[in-house]
Amino acid sequence: MIVDSRSIPHGSRIEADLCIVGAGAAGISIARRFAGTSTRVVVLESGGEAFEATTQDLSRGENVGLPYFPLDTARLRWLGGTTNHWGGICRPMDPEDFESKAWIPNSGWPIAERDLESYYEPARVMCGVSSGDWGLETWRQRDRFKPLPVRGDRLDTRIAQIVSPEARSFRITHRAGIQAARNVVLQCHANVTEIETNSEGTLATLFHVATLDGNRYTVAARQGVLAAGGIENPRILLASNRQWHEGVGNRNDLVGRFFLEHPRFVGGVLVPFDRRLSVGLYDHHKVGAVRLLGYLGLKQATRDQEQLVDVQMSLHPTLAGSFQRSAESEDMKALHALVPALRQGHIHQLGGHLARVAEDLTSWQALLIPGAPLPAPFPEVVGKLMRSTPFEAQALIPDLMGDIAARGYAKKFGAPIESILLRTRINAVPNPDSRVTLGDDRDPLGIPRVRLDWRLTSLDRHSVRRSLEVLGSEVGRAGLGRVRVMLDDHDGPWPEDLAGGWHHMGTTRMADDPRWGVVDRNCRVHGIRNLYIAGSSVFPTAGSGTPTLTIVALALRLADHLKGLLA
Ligand SMILES: Cc1cc2nc3c(=O)[nH]c(=O)nc-3n(C[C@H](O)[C@H](O)[C@H](O)COP(=O)(O)OP(=O)(O)OC[C@H]3O[C@@H](n4cnc5c(N)ncnc54)[C@H](O)[C@@H]3O)c2cc1C
Repeated sequence: MIVDSRSIPHGSRIEADLCIVGAGAAGISIARRFAGTSTRVVVLESGGEAFEATTQDLSRGENVGLPYFPLDTARLRWLGGTTNHWGGICRPMDPEDFESKAWIPNSGWPIAERDLESYYEPARVMCGVSSGDWGLETWRQRDRFKPLPVRGDRLDTRIAQIVSPEARSFRITHRAGIQAARNVVLQCHANVTEIETNSEGTLATLFHVATLDGNRYTVAARQGVLAAGGIENPRILLASNRQWHEGVGNRNDLVGRFFLEHPRFVGGVLVPFDRRLSVGLYDHHKVGAVRLLGYLGLKQATRDQEQLVDVQMSLHPTLAGSFQRSAESEDMKALHALVPALRQGHIHQLGGHLARVAEDLTSWQALLIPGAPLPAPFPEVVGKLMRSTPFEAQALIPDLMGDIAARGYAKKFGAPIESILLRTRINAVPNPDSRVTLGDDRDPLGIPRVRLDWRLTSLDRHSVRRSLEVLGSEVGRAGLGRVRVMLDDHDGPWPEDLAGGWHHMGTTRMADDPRWGVVDRNCRVHGIRNLYIAGSSVFPTAGSGTPTLTIVALALRLADHLKGLLA
C-alpha cells in the first residue's frame, strides 16, 4: 500500500517489524521480498510518485575533491530512486572482485561470489535484465558482431546487458506489487532526519521523520534498514549526532570514508589500419531481444602479474567526416528527442521534431528530377557517383540519403572509421581519504548538506596506462592498428573529461572487523543489533561490473537474513 506521510497525524509513533529507509532499487527489492508475509513493513521514502524540485533539492551538496557531477543531479529523490533515470547497464561482479590483493590497499570482501550466486537470478528478474547468460561464448555464436581479433592470453572481451528503457524504473515495474502488498506500507514524502538509539548505542530505537510541509512523527521497528543510496546512507548516520557526536555507527571514524566511483575518461586512441574494422560488439546492439554491450579488459593473470587494478576499455569509433557529422546532426537529435516524447505521450513536443525527422527522411527527393514520369536522379548526381571510388561513394551516403538513413546504414552495414576513442573505466582503489562528510550548509529540514571529496590514487592512473599499453601491443601484434596512450604516468592532473559513472560506493563498507568496516558480512552496522544497510555504500570495492544488479542481489540476501530474525 502506498500512502502520503503528510496526512499521518503529527507527533504519532508508528510501530513496525521492519522499517526500510528509501524506496530505490535496494529498498524496493527488500520490501517486495517481504510482500505477502506476516511481517509489518514500513518503507519511508523521501519523494513522491512524481519528480518534485523541492524534494530533489534536499540532495544538493558540495564537491571539494576531483570534479564531479552536481550532487543533486547524480541521484534521484522520488519513488524508485535513481532507477528513474539510470542507464540500465548490468553485469554481476566477477568472483575475483571479492578477493583481496596484496598490492591493492583495502581490497577484498568478507563474502565471496558464492554467497551471492543464488541471488543474482532473482536480482536479474527484479531489474528486468533479459538473460541470465553473461559469458561471451554463448553470445559469440549468435551475435553478428565479433570480438576484436586479438590474442586472448592477455586481453578478454566481457559482455554487459542493458535493460530496455521501459523496464528500467523500479517505480513503474514494482509499484503494483508494493501497492497490492497488505503488509507493506510505503510512506511517500517521508524524510528520515535522524536515527535514535538506546543509551548504550546498541539498538536503533526510533526513525525520526519530517515532511517538507512541517509534519513530524517517528517509526519504531524491531529491525531497520538504511537504503537511501551511497551518499545519503552515510549522511543520515553522520547527521544522527545528537546522542553521538561522531554520528551513529561511526565509532571508528569510517562512515563516509572510502567513497568509490567508476572513474571514466578517454585514455587513448586506436587508429585502425582497416577503416572497416568491426567494433559493433562494443557498441549498444541487440541479439534477438537482448541488448548487449561489450568491452575489453586485461585478464586476471596479467593484472596479477603486473599488479594492476581492473580497467575496462570501451571502444567509441569516430566515423569518417560525413557520417560523423550525420551522427551528431540536428536531425538525429530531433529523432532522439522524438522517440521518448512519443513513448511518454508528450504530444506538445512532437510537432517540431516530427517535421525535422520527416524532412530528413525525404531529403533524397531533392536529388530527383521533379515531375519525371519515373523517379530519376539529376544527371550531376549520377555523374558524381560514377566518378567516385567505392570508398568515396560510401562517404556520399549521408548527403544522398539524409542523416537519419545514413545513421541507420552505418549501424547496419558499417561506415568508414577515422579513429576509435578508448574510454577507460577503473575499478578504483579503495581510498580512506576519498570521502563524504557533512558540510556547513543545512537543507530546509535542518540536516547538514553533504560535502564530497572524491580522490583517486597513483595505482589507478598507472593501471589505466598499462592496460592501454597492453591493448596497444596486442592490437599492433594482430596487425589491426596503432594505439596512442594519452594519459601520462606522473601524478599530474587527471584528464579534463574525467567523470564518474554515477555509482556511489564504499561509504559504509563491509568488513568482519569493525576497525575496517561499518557493516558486517550480513550488512548489519557493527555494534548495533538491529540496524542494517542496503545499497552500494556497503561495497568494499567497486568491482568490474556495474553496481545495481549486485545492490539488488545483496538486498535480497539481506531480506532473507531479516526474515530469519523476524520469523
Ligand atoms: C544517470 C545515471 C545512470 C546510471 N546508470 C547505471 C547503469 O547503467 N548501471 C548501474 O548498475 N547503475 C547505474 N546507475 C546507478 C544506479 O542508479 C544506482 O546504483 C541505484 O539506483 C542505487 O540504488 P539504491 O536503492 O541504493 O539508491 P537509489 O536508487 O538512489 O534510491 C534511494 C532512495 O532513497 C530515498 N532517500 C534518500 N534519502 C532519504 C531520506 N533521508 N529519507 C527517506 N528516503 C530517502 C531517495 O528518495 C531514493 O528513492 C546510474 C545512475 C545515474 C544517476
